[in-house]
Amino acid sequence: MKTIAIIGAGPVGLACACWLLQKTPEASIKLYDKFSENDESIGNGDSRGLAISQGSHLLLKSIGAWPNNSPAIHKIHVSHRGHFGRAVVRREELQQEALGHIVRYADIHLALRQALKKIAAHNPHFEWHFNVKMDELSKENLADVTIHAEGGLFKQQDWQEIYRDYQQSAIVGWAKLDQNNAHLAWERFTEEGPLALLPSHKGPEYSNLIWCGHPDSSNRRLSLSPKEFIKELQDAFGTRAGHFLEVGELRSYDLGLNARKNIIGTKEVWIGNAAQTMHPVAGQGLNLGLRDAHTLAEELSNTTDIQNALINYQQRRQADRKATIGTTDFLARIFTSKLKPVIWARGIALSSLQLASPIKQALTRQMMFGQR
Ligand SMILES: Cc1cc2nc3c(=O)[nH]c(=O)nc-3n(C[C@H](O)[C@H](O)[C@H](O)COP(=O)(O)OP(=O)(O)OC[C@H]3O[C@@H](n4cnc5c(N)ncnc54)[C@H](O)[C@@H]3O)c2cc1C
Repeated sequence: MKTIAIIGAGPVGLACACWLLQKTPEASIKLYDKFSENDESIGNGDSRGLAISQGSHLLLKSIGAWPNNSPAIHKIHVSHRGHFGRAVVRREELQQEALGHIVRYADIHLALRQALKKIAAHNPHFEWHFNVKMDELSKENLADVTIHAEGGLFKQQDWQEIYRDYQQSAIVGWAKLDQNNAHLAWERFTEEGPLALLPSHKGPEYSNLIWCGHPDSSNRRLSLSPKEFIKELQDAFGTRAGHFLEVGELRSYDLGLNARKNIIGTKEVWIGNAAQTMHPVAGQGLNLGLRDAHTLAEELSNTTDIQNALINYQQRRQADRKATIGTTDFLARIFTSKLKPVIWARGIALSSLQLASPIKQALTRQMMFGQR
């Protein structure tokens, strides 16, 4: 019998366990989770809103892990503060019901735990180890293959390979506006980084805020009174989405790129943020991680030759990783450059994107479904 260990029960590790149980029910699967069995702390956990692509939506539905409160995006408006050029993407242009959905981290974490509990209920070969102190866990010979899904945030990771510190952090929280922004996603590039307003589970007059800036600026902004913060936010965003009335649950995350060159070793494999951590400018981290998990589960179910399955997995993930990491890195850098030619080029790029429908559609499809 094949034995598989998964270290880390964040969204990607949990999704991987679900697909493995569906596709390889005869395998012995062990999941090592830092959290307790009780779901209460999970539902009250990280409330940051994540943009989930249509591709991920379909993948998550295949395991019954779709959270109820997940507002859809029907229109994305991209602009560039103080410069010409803008692009608008509508769901009708791509003939899709939605361009994506916004889901809170805590909600997707909880939905995946509950889905896994259901799928695993009748599988005698599955072991879910809770409250695991990972430092005390001997990772040697845990199983025929160990899947690393320990994830983590940039700067918290104790490994560095393809590495770029953008000198940015993101202030995340919610904002209340005097305008109904239901199903609208706004991304505005400022000199310090992108500023996004995304649909919120709190209702149409609320948005999820992600405001990227230099870490010193973010720290300074977080120390402002709500009134001063709202004034700066309004100046940076303008009035297209309305007037900001209130903000809440503000906190910051360091941003950067940290990706592994090799995502497999002998009897070991890395998925999700344990394989690559990216800037959230294009909202791709979890989406890419779910595709990692799904492809790995497919490869491991197809064979008894595990090392060969890992080699196939690495090959199959190469194009999607390269395209998604490359596009995200490009966007994170080009929109913060202060060089005049780059500033003109990005205005032209946004305008051409708006005019050249096939390019816009191809780019949006890559972001919605990844490279297949
Ligand atoms: C501000 C911000 C906005 C973002 N927006 C988006 C977005 O819009 N769309 C999108 O797709 N992505 C987005 N992301 C990225 C997304 O959050 C990550 O890609 C995603 O959470 C990765 O999931 P994961 O399961 O791989 O890792 P994690 O979410 O980090 O989960 C890993 C789990 O493993 C546990 N763990 C850690 N170390 C160990 C260990 N040694 N042993 C066992 N367990 C361990 C952790 O406690 C955690 O539960 C954003 C990220 C940030 C910071």
